[in-house]
Amino acid sequence: MSQIAENFSHIKENMHKTARAAERSPEEVVLVAVSKKQPTEKIHEALKTGHRVFGENRVQDALAMWVPIKKTYPDVQLHLIGSLQTNKVKEAVSLFDVIETLDREKLVDALVGEMRQQNKNIPCFIQVNTGEEPQKSGVIPARLPDLLAYARQAGLTVQGLMCIPPEQEPPALHFAFLSKLAKQHDLKSLSMGMSGDFEKAIALGATHIRVGTALFGVRAP
Ligand SMILES: *Cc1c(COP(=O)(O)O)cnc(C)c1O
Repeated sequence: MSQIAENFSHIKENMHKTARAAERSPEEVVLVAVSKKQPTEKIHEALKTGHRVFGENRVQDALAMWVPIKKTYPDVQLHLIGSLQTNKVKEAVSLFDVIETLDREKLVDALVGEMRQQNKNIPCFIQVNTGEEPQKSGVIPARLPDLLAYARQAGLTVQGLMCIPPEQEPPALHFAFLSKLAKQHDLKSLSMGMSGDFEKAIALGATHIRVGTALFGVRAP
């Protein structure tokens, strides 16, 4: 077995155990394999294991890597997990299957217009800046209700919420908070948890975990 295949089976086993310990069904949790800044060979190793759900944080890098791969593997599901500028919306809509980083009304307008152009309906997650960090993208919690109402009104499919907790705080507080927000707003999906904290996220209701380093090793700088 290749190192990558071993890592996938290890993480998946770990996900299953954690879900069962939390009395959740393992099938409820999707592993989004974060392939940003990883060499193509490693992505192919992952594809060989049968894995099909991947995450990228930059539109331009993702196009270069995934346009060719998607021709060979049309069942790949690509998640955008980095912030999206409105001038990249056209390319993002052409490539991604899920957008996890919706965070402002202007982006709702751009996405709705472009999805109409391309005759697509791409599900979105709203990214919530649960730590209210000035340098981080995501809507602040107090503004979530307005943004959600706006997106729903515009016809966007909002599937759930996503967060990246502040580095120096216990992530579980943020996961629990995001979970509460999702329940309040009747949203069924929760994208939270990365290599270092995905077990906690699963225990607190994550339906999507975003794991890079633990699957592919340390990224190129
Ligand atoms: C890079 C990235 C990840 C993966 O982080 P790892 O610690 O390598 O698992 C998850 N989520 C987002 C938004 C990222 O940018």
